[in-house]
Amino acid sequence: MQPLADRIYQINEPQTIAMAKLSRELAAQGHDVINLSLGEPDFPTPQHIKDAAKAAIDANFSYYTPVAGIPELREAISAKFKRENNLDFAPAQTLVSTGAKQSIMNVILALINPGDEVIIPTPYWVSYSEMVKLVGGVPVFVHADIKQQYKITPDQLTNSITSKSKAFIFSSPCNPTGSVYTKYELQQLAGVFEKHPGITIISDEIYEHIRFTGSHESIAQFDSLKDRVVVVNGMSKGFAMTGWRIGYIGAPLAIVQACEKIQGQFTSGTNSIAQKAAVAALNGTMQPTEEMCAAYKRRGTLVKQALDTIEGVVCNEPEGAFYVFPDISRFLGVTYGSYTLTTATDLCLYLLHEAHVSLVTGEAFGAPSCVRISYATSDAKLQDAMQRIHTSLNKLK
Ligand code: PLP
Repeated sequence: MQPLADRIYQINEPQTIAMAKLSRELAAQGHDVINLSLGEPDFPTPQHIKDAAKAAIDANFSYYTPVAGIPELREAISAKFKRENNLDFAPAQTLVSTGAKQSIMNVILALINPGDEVIIPTPYWVSYSEMVKLVGGVPVFVHADIKQQYKITPDQLTNSITSKSKAFIFSSPCNPTGSVYTKYELQQLAGVFEKHPGITIISDEIYEHIRFTGSHESIAQFDSLKDRVVVVNGMSKGFAMTGWRIGYIGAPLAIVQACEKIQGQFTSGTNSIAQKAAVAALNGTMQPTEEMCAAYKRRGTLVKQALDTIEGVVCNEPEGAFYVFPDISRFLGVTYGSYTLTTATDLCLYLLHEAHVSLVTGEAFGAPSCVRISYATSDAKLQDAMQRIHTSLNKLK
């Protein structure tokens, strides 16, 4: 076979997906595996959104759409930014893509030259670093541990900035930690960025609607950062629409136009039917979203309380998204039967084989002393899973 391009060897397969594959294999062998590894709502898409899609199919809304999205959807996104976030992004400053994943990749392709540095707080969402590497950029990690609720400080940010810093990317509410930056904390970070006008901030707000701490705060709200914040959002999490593949940005016009140019050569406009569904979602009732959020909140508490009873596990407070990110370093270095637990990956494999519960190693998110637990599954399964984890970890004393 011909050798593949160098970039293929520079990036990793998402470990979230690798773990899910492994747990499916165990399930196929007849084991009752509880999968807490995937970042996906377990709820179906709300009915009024599905109805809009059906109507679009029946109306033969089946042709290519404009690359940046149908005008109706860009208007709905612009209105949503104003209504929910008090942000002024004109429809022309929005762009619809095939999931927030593509939105982020577009922005990175549009901004980053080889050698440019992109500051990424750790723990980070798996794809940020790989996307930066794909374009020859250099990820610069700023580590925040559980003692700081996995949120970086202004001093840490200041220390990470060099003359090569081009962008900063983070999520709040955060995947993988479930932490949420407060308005004050964002303001402090904004104060640092004010002194460095060459840095574009990519604010991934895909979990905006799944938060338990009051209103959503965006770093785009600060006037001092006007014209250099890209807000990334989408339908996947808050509207239980992962498979529909709709993400979007609100951004300075030049960045939107650059992303449109890139997307025009890659995928064109995203799925026409899904765009109509997204219009219904953004303009419609938020009740289903609020109900889902209430369920996540309850489940987050359930999981946190269960983890707090396990000696050696240190769990953070679930504030949003549908993850907790306990520190499990106490179990590293332990030997039990044929298992030698050197890394968080070893611990995940132990729990998969012994407890039949699938989690994701913190190594995937740049945090090797932690594991990610997704609680986007039923209360009954979570209770069962927590019991199994408890029993298996207790054996490691
Ligand atoms: N950003 C974060 C923080 C995510 O967790 C995810 C999905 O897991 C995405 C972006 C991508 O979302 P989408 O499904 O819209 O591509």
